[in-house]
Amino acid sequence: MRVFNFAAGPATLPEEVLEQVRAELTDWQGSGMSVMEVSHRSKAFMAAAQEAEASLRELLGVAANYKVLFLQGGATGQFSAIPMNLARADSTVDYLNTGTWSKKALAEAQRFTSRVNVAADEAASKYTTVPDPQALRLSSGAAYVHYTPNETIGGVEFPYVPDTGAVPLVADMSSTILSRPIDVARFGLIYAGAQKNIGPAGLVVVIVREDLIGKARPGTPAVWDYKSMADEGSMLNTPATFGWYFAGLVFRWLQRRGGLTAAAARNRAKAQLLYGAIDASTFYSNPVAAGCRSWMNVPFTLADPQLDRSFLDGARAAGLVNLEGHRSVGGMRASLYNAMPLTGVEALVAFMKEFERRHG
Ligand SMILES: *Cc1c(COP(=O)(O)O)cnc(C)c1O
Repeated sequence: MRVFNFAAGPATLPEEVLEQVRAELTDWQGSGMSVMEVSHRSKAFMAAAQEAEASLRELLGVAANYKVLFLQGGATGQFSAIPMNLARADSTVDYLNTGTWSKKALAEAQRFTSRVNVAADEAASKYTTVPDPQALRLSSGAAYVHYTPNETIGGVEFPYVPDTGAVPLVADMSSTILSRPIDVARFGLIYAGAQKNIGPAGLVVVIVREDLIGKARPGTPAVWDYKSMADEGSMLNTPATFGWYFAGLVFRWLQRRGGLTAAAARNRAKAQLLYGAIDASTFYSNPVAAGCRSWMNVPFTLADPQLDRSFLDGARAAGLVNLEGHRSVGGMRASLYNAMPLTGVEALVAFMKEFERRHG
């Protein structure tokens, strides 16, 4: 039986895509081999790789002056690649600190420049808010501004795109990419680990404006240098072929389902259903300020944490799995990525109501 998997990442994948992968696993495109066994330089793989990129460009509306890279090392690798490529050792870089992931990104940047300016820090609210757009303490002449549009652990999401003027805006979109349309032109660089909303772990997508490429500091390893990777079509070394192929199928699945406008409507409906149920009860609560609640990751707590174990056991028995909150915060968290159907959220809400009726 297939369960509803609410994990934050690696996360649920579209069943339709999994079925397609299964169907073509041992004989991909008449090759007599799986896609994992063919050369990344074969005509068939190159075509699949290019088609994946074209679909992603179409979905997000990526203009020709951006490169799309399919890399490895996860979002965490990009925490280092970004300062290596975009900043010098004496550059000032601005980071907005809104929770666990932005904090990790800024800590890594501190290894590459001593001038990391924390342009906003939501510590006072225990990271349940985003900064006021007028209150950002941006440096003049920063090499870039980094932020995390969706904090996967805190469940906090920016309802606006920061205005950084001519300074390139860099966004860790790992847990929100493809959840709704975005205006790519507002960003200098967007990156996203695949294992939330794109495909299996092992792949990270980087969308980078061309004028930001070719400025890596001396000593940058070639696999982390956007220029060497862009020049080689992300095939300077063997790419994550299975993940790239899988991502292409997910992009086409999204296109068939009406693109990102339709995805946004589905995601809004799922999030509203769950937040509505939480807010309607005194048994469950979500700590995040109303204007910046994540559509993708919904943390919630039970009035009595002694009941957590029993909640999780009951949920699992009902086919609702991986609802435990991140180990750093406890409580519960339901991740509602694109591949989570509305029926999964309906089943969760029904379970929550029944659990409350019995234990509330
Ligand atoms: C999951 C996640 C990461 C870490 O991704 P890795 O691929 O494990 O490096 C970074 N940032 C955000 C926002 C995430 O959700």
